[in-house]
Amino acid sequence: MPDAANILYLDRFSLRGRRALVTGGARGIGFAICDALSQAGATVVLTDRDGDAAHDAAERLRGRAGDVAAAQLDVTDPAAVTAMADEWPEIDILVNNAGIARSNIPAEKMSDDEWSSVIDINLNGLFWCCRAFGRHMLGRGAGNVVNVGSMSGYIVNRPQEQAQYNASKAAVHQLTRSLAAEWAPRGVRVNAVAPTYIETEMNAYVYNDDALMRHWIGGTPQGRMGRPDEVASVVLFLASDAASLMTGSIVLADGGYTCW
Ligand code: NDP
Repeated sequence: MPDAANILYLDRFSLRGRRALVTGGARGIGFAICDALSQAGATVVLTDRDGDAAHDAAERLRGRAGDVAAAQLDVTDPAAVTAMADEWPEIDILVNNAGIARSNIPAEKMSDDEWSSVIDINLNGLFWCCRAFGRHMLGRGAGNVVNVGSMSGYIVNRPQEQAQYNASKAAVHQLTRSLAAEWAPRGVRVNAVAPTYIETEMNAYVYNDDALMRHWIGGTPQGRMGRPDEVASVVLFLASDAASLMTGSIVLADGGYTCW
C-alpha cells in the first residue's frame, strides 16, 4: 500500500519533459490549451491549417516554461497527418482540438458540403490524428490523447440547427471511449472534454444576437458562457499524471447546462 502522506500531489500536474502537439492551436480554445500546456512545462508543437497564424500564435507564447514550436497541419489530410506524426514520433500528449461548426442549416436542406466539411474536420481529421500519433505512442507503450468534444454530443442545442456538428461530437465521444478501451492495456490514455458555449470566434455570430445570447445564458445554471482558459484547465488536468486513473472519460465543462 502506498503511504498517502508521501504523495506529492502538485508534482502530478507538472508536464516538464513531456512533448505535446495541439491541432487548431492558432486561436480560441486551441491557443489557450497550448498556453496551459507550455506553462506546465511541456514542449508544445502548436499546429493549425494556417501556418502563418500558427507561427504568430507560437510567438505570443515565447517565454513560457516549455518551448513552443509552430507547424502547418490540416487535419483533413491523412498523409500530412502521418508525415507530421513521423516527424514528431515522441509526442507524449496529443490534443485534438481543431473543429468547425456550421449552424442554422435545417437537416433537410443541408448540402453535401455542409455535412461533409464538418464531419471531415471534427471526426475524420480527429481520427487520422489519433491513428497516426497513436501508433507511435503504442510503440513506446505510453501516451495520452485528449479530444475536444462538446456538450452538443449529448444535447441538441436550440435553436441552432446543426445536426452534422452534433453528430460529429457524439461520434468523437464514442471514438474516445473505443480507443480508450483498445489502448489502455498498452499504456495509452484517451479522454475528452465536452465544453459548453465558449467565447471564441466560432460563436462570433451570436454576440450581436441578444435573443440568442439570452437563450444560451438563461439556459446555463452558472448564467454565463465559458472562457477558453476554463477548457484548457480541464485539458491540462486530463493530460497530466493527476488523471492517471482516467481513460474513456468525457468530462463536461458546461456551467451546468446539461443539468436542466
Ligand atoms: P475557433 O474557430 O475559434 O478555432 C478553431 C481553430 O481550428 C482555428 O484556428 C481554425 O483555423 C482551426 N482549424 C479549422 N479547421 C482546421 C483543420 N482542418 N485543420 C487544422 N486546423 C483547423 O474554434 P474554437 O476555439 O471555439 O473551437 C475549438 C474546438 O472546441 C472545436 O473542436 C470546437 O468544436 C470545440 N468546441 C467549441 C465550443 C465553443 O462554444 N466555441 C463549444 C464546444 C466545443 P481557421 O482559422 O483556418 O479556421
